[in-house]
Amino acid sequence: AVPLVVSISTALSAKNGLLVRNRTAFENSRKISAIVFDKTGTLTEGNFGVNRIESLYGLPQNELLSTVAAIEQHSEHPIAKGIVKESKNRGLKLPRTSGFSATKGRGVSARVGGVIYQIVSPGYLEDQGLDLPEGAMTDQIETIVFVLKEGELIGFIALADQIRKESKGAIALLKEQGIKVLMATGDNEQTAKAVADELGLDGYFSQVLPHQKSELIEKLQSKGEYVAMTGDGVNDAPALAKADIGIAVGSGTDVAAETADIILTESSPEDISRLIIFGRATYNKMV
Ligand code: ADP
Ligand code: MG
Repeated sequence: AVPLVVSISTALSAKNGLLVRNRTAFENSRKISAIVFDKTGTLTEGNFGVNRIESLYGLPQNELLSTVAAIEQHSEHPIAKGIVKESKNRGLKLPRTSGFSATKGRGVSARVGGVIYQIVSPGYLEDQGLDLPEGAMTDQIETIVFVLKEGELIGFIALADQIRKESKGAIALLKEQGIKVLMATGDNEQTAKAVADELGLDGYFSQVLPHQKSELIEKLQSKGEYVAMTGDGVNDAPALAKADIGIAVGSGTDVAAETADIILTESSPEDISRLIIFGRATYNKMV
């Protein structure tokens, strides 16, 4: 096993960032018929900047931002990091919070000055029967999170991420191999579609909740697909475990890494393509 892994590492330009945890899974890379990428941080940079802050009831923008940032300080999500960064750029002082909690794929909540605030996805709003406010629909690649105060919508923050420059080429390589390239994201429909169109994906799934990611993998498998999946968060761990080949990417959390077959620490979609293509070439020769 050692020389094999060494040779793979060499093929991947001797980067330190590759770890094959499950060699059998890797050997099976020749069977892959579909790959499901996560969006944020894999196909995109995962580096959000704040585009717009909309306050619906006259609360000054900076006050809304400082409240939200105070809560998001406790979250590891790339959205949270973008919001906290913006508050720092504006030199805002953040209020004290208590009782922080996060709901996977949905958002976060905490108390500020005794009042409960939630910062949530559009899917959560829909589930609560709340209408999206005007201006919260765009045709840009924007990720929008909504701010609720005691359950009432008081504003939203629109953030933008960027498609990684190597994503398009990496996807083209996989498609050349006859592999279906799909994306699953917790993000909204418009953003998912815009990214999928831009990258020429074979399909995408938007507003996918964490547990739905593994159901999705199962569905693909029941249709006879042999599925590889990438993921970077705790959220993605169950789906990574379910996939025929689970690939944990990026700085990833420990939990995601523990359930993955392959770990790429300095990941780019290009590395993933090369890894799969290399695995196919190697093991095709051996059978
Ligand atoms: P993905 O990894 O595909 O971007 P996630 O499952 O991590 O999706 O998140 C899905 C959605 O849940 C986000 O687009 C956002 O609307 C909401 N969300 C998750 N975490 C947070 C957070 N810390 N603050 C605000 N919204 C969040
Ligand atoms: Mg994620």
